[in-house]
Amino acid sequence: MNIPSIIKKSTTSILGSFACTSISLALSNGMPLVVMYHGVKCGTKQKGSENYRWKHIPDSVFEEQIIWLKKHFEVVSLEEVENSISDKRDIKKPLCAITFDDGFRNNYTNAFPILKKYSVPATIFLTTGFIERNIHLWTDVLEYALNTSLHNEIIISIDGKEKSFHISNTTEKIHSDSILRNYMKKISNDSREELLKEILTATSVSKDTMYEEFSDYAPLSWEEVIEMKNENITFGAHTVTHPILSSLPKDIQEDEIISSIKRICDKVGDCKYFAYPNGQLHDINNDTREILKENNIKYAWSTIPERIKKTNADDLLFLPRVTLDASQFNNRFYALTSNALQYTKNIL
Ligand SMILES: [Zn+2]
Repeated sequence: MNIPSIIKKSTTSILGSFACTSISLALSNGMPLVVMYHGVKCGTKQKGSENYRWKHIPDSVFEEQIIWLKKHFEVVSLEEVENSISDKRDIKKPLCAITFDDGFRNNYTNAFPILKKYSVPATIFLTTGFIERNIHLWTDVLEYALNTSLHNEIIISIDGKEKSFHISNTTEKIHSDSILRNYMKKISNDSREELLKEILTATSVSKDTMYEEFSDYAPLSWEEVIEMKNENITFGAHTVTHPILSSLPKDIQEDEIISSIKRICDKVGDCKYFAYPNGQLHDINNDTREILKENNIKYAWSTIPERIKKTNADDLLFLPRVTLDASQFNNRFYALTSNALQYTKNIL
């Protein structure tokens, strides 16, 4: 770990501890917070490099976090947060909305009972091709292939050159996964699909068995979606196949966005919300914004990890959300849910 990251880590930790006091919440300027999870797993056991980035946090930790959020925020629907941004209202107890991305089945099996227990609303952004089991999410396929492969090493072509990746133990698998994941985020959607096929062949792993072997990778069914819809959970669109939208021509972006919105409307009656896959500024372009406007989506959510600011009212199609993956480390959770992370960023 280099020196700036050590300083950053300890600063985040100190601010995190500090942030659990009401003083840090006073720093939060009364504007709403929208948090984003991917999944909630049952217990803490993991096999090998499964879920090594804690995309799915343990259920006991999720429950603690819901209790903490309820204590310090008024936890409301995403619609109430959206209305409050346009109103530019100042509120004494800040609003917080909870969202989940992608549509993992454990949102129903593990998160939903906790949300019901505390009467907390949430919005789930669905990747509709994932829900219909037409596609697998590539990050999960990569993790699964490297984790379950019996090979010690694989050879993969990167930028036309053959490169060796060691995967003989969990540490090596995590290291190789990180390098490949970062590389695959930067290439075109078609190149990524090709590379994923190459990785599956090289690891001698079939993705057909991944949901049975690792249930946290599995998608929701429409039946589960409809059941939750009747109990305080709303649904938004997150495209059909989870591509990086800015890398696509407008007509393909239209298909990804409009088809996912229509499918959700067909199944649950409406779809007013949208979240961008990956969610950074370079992941969208003007075409993306135009398509959303043409399809009556007034608010769209990024993964820029900030509290909402009054200036966000000027650009409702790129609103910030704080990702709480890996937030089982409580200092990180406190830092992220207060403004501490932003202060850390400003300091370093
Ligand atoms: Zn996503």
